[in-house]
Amino acid sequence: MARCSARRGKGFFMDTGSGATPAQKRRRGSRGGKNRNKRPAIDGLVTHDDEVSDETDVISNETVNPTELPDPPQEGRVRDPEVAQQALVRRPQIGDTRPAPRVAVAQSTQPQSGAAQGNSGATSENAQTNSAKKRNRRGGRNRNRSDSGPAPKRTAVETDASIIERRRGRERNGRPVGRYFMCVQVRGGITQVAVLEGRSLIEHYVSRPADDVAQIHGNIYLGRVQNVLPGMEAAFVDIATPKNAVLYRGDVQFEHEDVEGAPEARIEQILRSSQMILCQVTKNPIAAKGARLTQEVSLPGRFVVLIPNSKAYGISKRLPDAERRRLRSILDRVKPQEHGVILRTAAEFATEQELTADMTRLVEQWKIIEDKAKSAKGPTLLYREPELAVRVIREEFTAEHRGVIIDDHRLYEDVKDYVSAFNPELADRIEYYDAEAETLSLFETHHVHEQLHKALDPKVWLPSGGSLIIEHTEALTVIDVNTGKNVGTTSLEETVFRNNLEAAEEVAHQLRLRDIGGIIVIDFIDMEIKDNRKKVLESFRAALSRDKTRTQVFDISELGLVEMTRKRIGEGLLNSFTETCPDCEGRGVKVDFELLN
Ligand SMILES: [Zn+2]
Repeated sequence: MARCSARRGKGFFMDTGSGATPAQKRRRGSRGGKNRNKRPAIDGLVTHDDEVSDETDVISNETVNPTELPDPPQEGRVRDPEVAQQALVRRPQIGDTRPAPRVAVAQSTQPQSGAAQGNSGATSENAQTNSAKKRNRRGGRNRNRSDSGPAPKRTAVETDASIIERRRGRERNGRPVGRYFMCVQVRGGITQVAVLEGRSLIEHYVSRPADDVAQIHGNIYLGRVQNVLPGMEAAFVDIATPKNAVLYRGDVQFEHEDVEGAPEARIEQILRSSQMILCQVTKNPIAAKGARLTQEVSLPGRFVVLIPNSKAYGISKRLPDAERRRLRSILDRVKPQEHGVILRTAAEFATEQELTADMTRLVEQWKIIEDKAKSAKGPTLLYREPELAVRVIREEFTAEHRGVIIDDHRLYEDVKDYVSAFNPELADRIEYYDAEAETLSLFETHHVHEQLHKALDPKVWLPSGGSLIIEHTEALTVIDVNTGKNVGTTSLEETVFRNNLEAAEEVAHQLRLRDIGGIIVIDFIDMEIKDNRKKVLESFRAALSRDKTRTQVFDISELGLVEMTRKRIGEGLLNSFTETCPDCEGRGVKVDFELLN
């Protein structure tokens, strides 16, 4: 993806002059690469902030990668943007009670090279509907020139205090009300975060002390280019972790006047072995695949994402128009000139002072990173993302959460401080659970424990006696839907239909809870009536729309199969609790070779 490659990247390239490059061993891709060289049809869209970009993401047909490369930008996507658009399940945020606006298909066809000029701010602004644009134009402000003209006077009569008041969560009889609840359990250095909707476990995250190597998403490094692979349009980069990371051509940034053939320059024209580059991890290393890097760095705060040395300018599309206007008028005044910013959904009802404080903190953080990069001698970590619990709370904690309960006192204090600093009105929702004084563990008390046990079982029961069997293969996950023994009182078709509806709901829940990514095939039970098939698919899509991870679902095939993809984020719940069986090496059976003798 050629996004933002026209951007000024001061201090991004540092040459060490050291010549020798250790030869990089590369295993051949075990899975074929038949589409690997095809480029995605459309490009130029922001991806650093899912809140802003997800619905404008564009899609092409590449699912194959060699073992040591992380998933390329086009993972699991279909070539035809229109098909992709239809298959894309709208993705609201956790706690989002407003549906995100529908995105027109037409907007996703931006010309590829033109997009290099268009910055990410323009992208998210373009994503508005035409009518919204007209409305704003009548307002008389030219948003595309944020640094032009005098800042509009603040006409809002609303005081900061009343803005904060609106942000306060609901309460009933003095107790906080909200659909969501978070439990954070710390044991032996392992932190687990459980997100509950009502009493049902919907998401689970684990981090281990050893995760400094594996959980590096968001970290910023000074890396050394090890070797450039023209055929893969990628480069291996040493970032001082055991495995080299990978930088794809689309994630490379460079000064156009420095490179011949820009902006269409090939990666080997831009990067050289042993060149030092500043880069950020956009994807954790998974199994044999190295981490994926970008040179477009972004620093997430509570309300704002700072994109250093960029023209990016965006406000989450999930916010209502009036709130977007209020935030834009603040940004016009306080946005740092040389950096880009994107306002997240959490910025709703944030005051000018809060936004400024958040941006100032991020700009200072960026200065520290730049200074570290200048004085570094070799590949090194420049910025580490905060620990898991703080990260999850930064991204997800809202007034829709009735609470966060933490059984580690140090972490509790840290989280409380963090929330007090950014959302003081919600600070009293952070609670400490004194595990020493209680008979049950935190996870037992909130029934997380038993739900996790169930989430590790391949079989899942459905309310009416049917079941799902979830099985993983190298290439995809297969979910088999079974009916119960009880065939019901009405027609067979009706029983099957009801069973499939329950399955659709439960599959969506399980995908999210188990964090299953990649290609997923669901074998629903055959339905004779076309309308029933349609209804099952509709309810499946509706259930998936509560998942903040992007999914695409295609129509039921002749054999009753539903093919879908879900963006791969982590290793999955199963992987985080298991290791491959040493006896059968994961095959699940032992061959009796005696019989062959
Ligand atoms: Zn085994």
